[in-house]
Amino acid sequence: MKKVIIASKNAGKVAEFEKLFAGLDVTVRSLLDFPDAPDVEETGETFQENARLKAEAIASAYGMLAIADDSGLAVDALDGRPGVFSARYAGLEKDDRKNIEKLLKELEGVPFERRTARFCCVLAVSGPGRPTRFVEGECRGYIAEAPSGTGGFGYDPVFYVPEKGITFAEMPAQVKNQISHRAKAMEKLLAVWPEIARDGE
Ligand code: IMP
Repeated sequence: MKKVIIASKNAGKVAEFEKLFAGLDVTVRSLLDFPDAPDVEETGETFQENARLKAEAIASAYGMLAIADDSGLAVDALDGRPGVFSARYAGLEKDDRKNIEKLLKELEGVPFERRTARFCCVLAVSGPGRPTRFVEGECRGYIAEAPSGTGGFGYDPVFYVPEKGITFAEMPAQVKNQISHRAKAMEKLLAVWPEIARDGE
């Protein structure tokens, strides 16, 4: 039985990983089981650097395999902003409504066809004595001119997915969870998992 610790205190995220590993020979722990875990500052300039920082810190603190994720929104007309600053775009307090307001203000006057954006998710897997590995997922869409929908979190109300004709926030969770950046990164993780599990033996 392989043991893995998810470097997150977010119960929603942890539940997604538990679902991913259900049926595999893996015991899933998270920082919810280790409330005194060190706080890791996200000082990286890329999603990959931040995911690496978190996975390596937790793997070395507990001497076991750790998985960390970092994600965010990159808007083409804003040269990739908010990027790694997605959570705290409008300030330190991580206010989703203010973040959306700021984004829409910055995109004022930009026509729909140039409002292209992508959500990115990087997962880093780190463990004692092994190189850190990464998988990535992305979901492409457009930034709508006004928020729409009440589901999800973060930038979901303004992230319009052309294939579905609605925003992330208008989709049932199970639809978002099939096409999201996180779902795609997790699919890739599952594909390379046998190799990762073998590496540590
Ligand atoms: P983190 O990876 O949990 O640090 O998330 C970074 C930030 O990116 C979140 O606080 C959101 O603002 C944004 N974000 C990441 N994934 C999503 C998503 O699926 N929907 C909406 N916003 C997201």
